[in-house]
Amino acid sequence: MKFEELGLAETLLRAVREEGYSTPTKIQIAAIPVILEGRDVLGCAQTGTGKTAAFALPTLQRLSRSPAKNGGRRKIRTLVLAPTRELVIQIGDSFHAYGRFTGLRRTVVYGGVGQNPQVRALQAGVDVLVATPGRLLDLMQQGFIDLSHVEILILDEGDRMLDMGFIHDLRRIVAKVPAQRQTLLFSATIPSTIRQLADQWLTKPIDIQVNSVTPTVDKIRQSVVFVDQVNKIRMLTHWLQNTDWTRTLVFTRTKHRADKVASLLKKAGIEADAFHADKSQSARQRTLARFKSPAPAVLVATDIAARGLDIDMVSHVINFDLPVDAENYVHRIGRTGRAGADGVALSFCDVSEREVLQAIQRLTKRALAVEAPPKGLPAATVAAPQPAAKSKTGSAPRSFSHAGKPKWQGKHRRTAYAGK
Ligand code: AMP
Repeated sequence: MKFEELGLAETLLRAVREEGYSTPTKIQIAAIPVILEGRDVLGCAQTGTGKTAAFALPTLQRLSRSPAKNGGRRKIRTLVLAPTRELVIQIGDSFHAYGRFTGLRRTVVYGGVGQNPQVRALQAGVDVLVATPGRLLDLMQQGFIDLSHVEILILDEGDRMLDMGFIHDLRRIVAKVPAQRQTLLFSATIPSTIRQLADQWLTKPIDIQVNSVTPTVDKIRQSVVFVDQVNKIRMLTHWLQNTDWTRTLVFTRTKHRADKVASLLKKAGIEADAFHADKSQSARQRTLARFKSPAPAVLVATDIAARGLDIDMVSHVINFDLPVDAENYVHRIGRTGRAGADGVALSFCDVSEREVLQAIQRLTKRALAVEAPPKGLPAATVAAPQPAAKSKTGSAPRSFSHAGKPKWQGKHRRTAYAGK
């Protein structure tokens, strides 16, 4: 199946190509045509299945095909509700990326930051508003938001919104949206509470259920190593030189750090490339081709660049820097362990990254196993913040070290976990 067969307009197909997506995911194949027809959808899908594009692409197409009924300032015609600020930002970014050739405007509102910039963006007029329920209600009560022109209502991560106690806010918001509308409700699970809401808010919905295309986080062997910032590069180099991490995706926080890490690895004789938004399209394509080739390779990427990267068979994901928000952790590690392969994700954590590590552990509902640093490399100067966390498999600190192994050379190397 190709994106071209789903009924999407060229403006959207172009954006999809620029994102680097080659084939639609299961949920995209199932949801895009029915959303384009105007049907309501109850979608059971987790993060990592491509569900954002599954609802954003047809929504954008419907908006761009039916021009706003009222002249003058743009009215909010699509409202997307999501539980967290991080998710709202991500969904907003996706609408921006997929809608870049449509001329439609979107904005995001969420709590925890000043409201004035958000109010100004709203006053400029938007077609798509992505919001957390609490802040949206706040702004509605102050008279900054008019939902009376909403044609498409999207609720993402419905079960999580209910878990977070948003039900009353949601009811008050939905009451202000016209009853004559298209409604899309996505949820990772469909408990009876979600089913009841679907009965109330959706009209003859199409039920779509997909299993995650990326593995659930549980299938990936995840661990953390505590290391001072200054020693991260030595540690990474050591592991890359002494293990058989065939295709390793290293994440850094910034483009500058991606460049720096890639160049230091190269100096150490390791085939590494940086991959980020400042690289030209052709440089990115060359880099990807190298990465996909059978020879061992390392790609050092930023979150943004790695979004939507169409690469399989990543043997290891290394979080050289932890992501700024916990949800990106799930996106990052979902790059490994695809297609039933064993995935390994190792996170480097320095003292300033402890908080986000805790947030990751809360989000994934598991404690990461703690790796010991390789022999000969200094441990973090500040002791690990928690007792050696036990993973689901119960591992205490262990060593990745393959001291004495020759440099990276070809295929006959053990996996990092061999012998454990
Ligand atoms: P989501 O489930 O919406 O959070 O998407 C998970 C990740 O998959 C995001 O990084 C998307 O950019 C990416 N993605 C979405 N659709 C595709 C596709 N058809 N091919 C490759 N990557 C995709």
